[in-house]
Amino acid sequence: LTVELDETHDPRLLSWVETANDGACDFPIQNLPFCVFRRAGTGDTGRIGVGIGNCILDLSRAAADGLLADANEAAERCRSSTLNALMELGPVGWRRLRGAISALLSVNVVADRRRRAESMILPIADAEFLLPANIGDFTDFFTSIFHATNVGTLFRPETPLLPNYKWVPVAYHGRTSSICLSGHRFARPKGQIKLPDAPAPAYAPCRRLDFEAELGFFVGPGNRFGDPIAIQQSDQHVFGVCLLNDWSARDIQTWENQPLGPFLAKNFASTISPWVVTLDALAPFRTAAYLRPPQDPRPLPHLFDAADQASGAFDIKVGIYLETEAMRRLGSSPHVLANVRFKDSYWTVAQLIAHHTSNGCNLRPGDLLGSGTISNAERGDNGSMIELTDGGKNPLILPDGEKRTFLEDGDCIILRATAERPEATRIGFGECRARILSAQ
Ligand code: CA
Repeated sequence: LTVELDETHDPRLLSWVETANDGACDFPIQNLPFCVFRRAGTGDTGRIGVGIGNCILDLSRAAADGLLADANEAAERCRSSTLNALMELGPVGWRRLRGAISALLSVNVVADRRRRAESMILPIADAEFLLPANIGDFTDFFTSIFHATNVGTLFRPETPLLPNYKWVPVAYHGRTSSICLSGHRFARPKGQIKLPDAPAPAYAPCRRLDFEAELGFFVGPGNRFGDPIAIQQSDQHVFGVCLLNDWSARDIQTWENQPLGPFLAKNFASTISPWVVTLDALAPFRTAAYLRPPQDPRPLPHLFDAADQASGAFDIKVGIYLETEAMRRLGSSPHVLANVRFKDSYWTVAQLIAHHTSNGCNLRPGDLLGSGTISNAERGDNGSMIELTDGGKNPLILPDGEKRTFLEDGDCIILRATAERPEATRIGFGECRARILSAQ
């Protein structure tokens, strides 16, 4: 595990992009999240950039101008319209690039380099974003034992947690074609719905539309077909983290789920944030893996590593907000549905990588692994409506008097996340938002 901090994490480091030095900013110089962007309205090909304060530094231009010469190979890979080539490079090149970008954006940079870089800065407000990577495959895990238990109780009261859960990092293979970027809108899905008292299903708009608040992990170099990744090396295969909303149609799910798991209940839309926060930026926020109760089994040897247990979890807090049509009309702020913490994940990210490749399955640069819905032990700290409303039985009353069991047309779900701890600079993940339109 490579969790050493270096000068790029120093909380005293300041940027000449002054908005980056505001303590409440998501993108201080210690963060440096990647994105693919273009100037709004131009229809240009996407370019790789890095977030700094309320701006983006155009890395393709910085690379072309020789401003990132200390990280030449990585810089060359920034002259692309997706992050895949950079993701493929691996941690040594990533760290060198991070050092070069940090030095360029630092207040300590020489005047000539600063002046050249200033001409490559665009306000985020003037940009539009594209998917950060060409996502070849998407696998969604189920790493919160609290979510697994809560949802299991609703679907199978007699056996909420299946016996494999504590041995296998359970997942399903999702779909990449319907992964959309934050800011999009989508129609409420239709599907086969069988009501409990109906003799047969009907094809109708989903009535139990839900969100799932998750983190997404972008795969780095990946492995050759047939070669598992050892858990000790797993970290080197994760490039970075985004926000992910795995929209779910609970009524479609109930009818289709057995025996092969989620299908049309999940693949109508998934939303990700445009920003990819690197594992290097998250180094100060690593923490011990979730402490399993003593009666739980120890993972099998290929899924167990002492160093991973010591620092394989990430202390990331995800805030979930609902903005209804009425709130937008009145200009009121989105309502906080929950705040959840990822550090209680039953499985670490390294365990997910080791498990996914343990049969020889190849992961490729730009593949996306979802954490699964993040829920914590306390009631109300849940990453889905089905948990927050006890399967739709107990509606939430919003501050303006509106009620929600599941999501309604016009509802917008917003995810935001931060990582913070004393003696480190707080970093954020930007936003992941999408709005539900009425069924077509
Ligand atoms: Ca999910």
